[in-house]
Amino acid sequence: MFGKDLTRRSGACCELCEASGVGLSVYEVPPIPADPDFEHCIFICDTCRDQIDHPKRRVGDHWRCLGKSIWSSVPAVQAISVKLLSQLQTDWSAELLETLYLEPEVEAWVDQMEL
Ligand SMILES: [Zn+2]
Repeated sequence: MFGKDLTRRSGACCELCEASGVGLSVYEVPPIPADPDFEHCIFICDTCRDQIDHPKRRVGDHWRCLGKSIWSSVPAVQAISVKLLSQLQTDWSAELLETLYLEPEVEAWVDQMEL
């Protein structure tokens, strides 16, 4: 539904790990609104999606990309990045979270999100 706009915004790269030349699909960042909302949609690769959907399969090294995406100007990308980072529980992720400054709206979004 928002595929065209997302392709443009993402530059056809995964908005989390920046993978290019791979299949990308729309992911709705929770909590999912009743009506489809572009502001909740991000464009991500299968690897990111699989690891988001299956927390036990998350590989810390894959998520090093979050060091960059937590500073995204797209609130949905930033919110899910912070949430994922906070669930990693590694030394480097804890350090990144300490340096982070979030707008109050994004912070509230992260608090409401369940992954
Ligand atoms: Zn990805």
